[in-house]
Amino acid sequence: MQPAFTALVQRVTDELQQVAVALQQAAEEASTVELDQTSVGRLSRMDAIQQQAMAQERQERIRMRQRQLLAAQDRLAHGAYGRCCECDEDIDQDRLQQDPAVVFCMTCQMQRDQPDRLR
Ligand SMILES: [Zn+2]
Repeated sequence: MQPAFTALVQRVTDELQQVAVALQQAAEEASTVELDQTSVGRLSRMDAIQQQAMAQERQERIRMRQRQLLAAQDRLAHGAYGRCCECDEDIDQDRLQQDPAVVFCMTCQMQRDQPDRLR
């Protein structure tokens, strides 16, 4: 196994742990806001609703990252890691170093980000 590969496995594992902690914090935050809502006046109730929406949005973002990382872990385990999920080409090493959970090669990512411009 290449040393770079082992390092990536470690990074994905580490980040999954961080994500689990962050998700728990966000969930606690969201439920705290919910409890507050029952005891506050109308104006701060608006704030509470807004705060809760933000906490939920944050949870959703973290969950998305968690799914990305779990998918990367799955690909690492099955030897499919480092290949683009769209075109099956090898993903650039620098790109993997920047984000070990990256799914697409640079070209496919650009096509997904700007579908109108490239079609
Ligand atoms: Zn690709």
